[in-house]
Amino acid sequence: MKQPDATFFRSELEERRSQLMTVHTLGNAGGEIGHLLREVDMALERIERGTFGLCEECHDPIETDRLLANPLLRMCLDHLTHVERRALEDDIKLASRIQGSLLPPRQARWGPWEAAYHYQPAGLTGGDYCDLQECENGFFVMMGDISGKGIAASLLMSNLHAICRSLLSVGMSPIALMQAANRLFCQHTMSSHYATLLCAAAGPSGEVTMVNAGHCPAVLVGQSGVQPVGAAGLPIGLFCEAKYEAQSLRLRPGDSLVFYTDGLTEAPGTGSEEYGLERLLEVADGTWSKPPAQLVQHVVSSWTGFRNGAPQADDLAVLALTLRS
Ligand SMILES: [Zn+2]
Repeated sequence: MKQPDATFFRSELEERRSQLMTVHTLGNAGGEIGHLLREVDMALERIERGTFGLCEECHDPIETDRLLANPLLRMCLDHLTHVERRALEDDIKLASRIQGSLLPPRQARWGPWEAAYHYQPAGLTGGDYCDLQECENGFFVMMGDISGKGIAASLLMSNLHAICRSLLSVGMSPIALMQAANRLFCQHTMSSHYATLLCAAAGPSGEVTMVNAGHCPAVLVGQSGVQPVGAAGLPIGLFCEAKYEAQSLRLRPGDSLVFYTDGLTEAPGTGSEEYGLERLLEVADGTWSKPPAQLVQHVVSSWTGFRNGAPQADDLAVLALTLRS
């Protein structure tokens, strides 16, 4: 994202100043308006002095996303007052609860299909998107990953969830859904943010139609072996005109598809190596005909073992969709 400069903040502050003055001259000015006017004037003075955006305690730059939301800030995150810190912690806990409420039930069944997943953000909130939804075109699995981490990513994840749920409710094919989701995401998010998204629609006789927008390939666990499936197109949110292609598969009873985010395959261990797709293929091999909850548990255990105590670096989502035998 392009860093906003002093000119940007000066015009932001002057805009706020004129809004405050309007209220002030209408005679509605309580002490609060006068206080805010002084705060805005002080921020404008800091711009003139060249100290705007620097923490008054440590003189380090204040976090840009916080400053964009509130140009009156004078402290970095490390130097918030006790009251400010408590308010921020409460906001994050609330965001975490809201995000948790957007997740589908842990296990789901639809016709011959059964699905289960594991979702584990690296912090209180995450940018991974995972959904299961039954609709007229089949049983839909959605798996995505917002660029970035933390609160901003979790807000965009909620946005992506709302977009996909609306599109699913009108009975779109996976390819039409991906194209519409891309256009909507392009129009409503800042150009610095994008998301990878994989959409798979499972039909009543074992058929699966999959569209992949820049997401990790799914893994097909068949009786005769495992393999990655689903070539990736462009992530959504980058180009409004992006076109997507669908891939069709037919699963046999006992087969599973494993969907995951890069928090699995790019997880660092204690050495320089990442978990990697090869390891996932090895781990998934031998899980044919296992119930999806067991398959997911098996993958998550191997990820935990691989990290061997190293802190979780990124959000993790793993989902298995199984055609029951
Ligand atoms: Zn500071």
